[in-house]
Amino acid sequence: MGGAERVAVVTGGGRGIGAAISRRLAAEGHAVAVNYASGESAARTVVSEIVAAGGRAVAVRADVSDAVQAETLITEATRVLGPPTVLVNNAGMNLAGSARTQHPHEWDRVIGVNLSGAFYCAHAALPGMYDAGWGRIVFLSSPSGGRRPSPGMSAYSAAKAGLVGMTRSMAQEVARRGITVNAVMPGFVETDIIASGGENAAANLAAHWPRIPAESIAATVSFLVGEGGGHVSGEEVGVWLGGPVGV
Ligand code: NAP
Repeated sequence: MGGAERVAVVTGGGRGIGAAISRRLAAEGHAVAVNYASGESAARTVVSEIVAAGGRAVAVRADVSDAVQAETLITEATRVLGPPTVLVNNAGMNLAGSARTQHPHEWDRVIGVNLSGAFYCAHAALPGMYDAGWGRIVFLSSPSGGRRPSPGMSAYSAAKAGLVGMTRSMAQEVARRGITVNAVMPGFVETDIIASGGENAAANLAAHWPRIPAESIAATVSFLVGEGGGHVSGEEVGVWLGGPVGV
């Protein structure tokens, strides 16, 4: 960290992988804005834990798929904690369904949260990072975004692949501003999102994919936002122990 406290925004930071990232960044000395859309009590629990451990944190409600709310998230984090120079775009959701039957509104929602929401938050946070001459952006992509797509996940796969393209483009834009942009691709982390892949999704994944703890994703994010990762940018880092076996 180099001494000074940095402010981090973790979208969807109150549950699942995001909660592990919020806790990890706080333990390493960041003040953390824990964003949530509907899970207020989970986000407040994470904030309470951070504050009880002597850190600074705030829970901020915002649906990141709304550009105005994404802007308000960054404004509110700045007002309470100071200008964020670390942004972890973790918020995500999935609505599984075949391309033949999935309603276009569902497509729009999945793209809106996973892809557009990540852009809106980065767009809102980048001016502060330019001012600071330092910044870290991490997008939570997925093996579904190109390397290991599954049927019935066109929208989710497109969104997660979109994040990789955005990572590479944005990383080049900001390379000379002291800002890095990377994507992390978790393998199978057993969280609530898994159930949205269908009735037997968890059992099917568990049959072939190594189970990865959320803390391991948080550790990878920690590396990328820390000084050690300072020259890593435009990359997609898989955290999946090589992926599925026996398929
Ligand atoms: P999760 O437990 O279902 O958590 C999803 C998080 O996203 C929640 O904190 C939720 O907030 C937040 N969120 C959803 N919609 C939002 C919105 N419109 N605005 C703001 N926040 C929103 O899932 P997870 O496994 O931790 O997933 C975290 C990220 O990792 C996602 O981007 C996911 O696609 C990615 N990922 C996960 C896996 C895995 O195996 N679990 C694998 C690859 C990639 P609320 O509590 O307010 O609902």
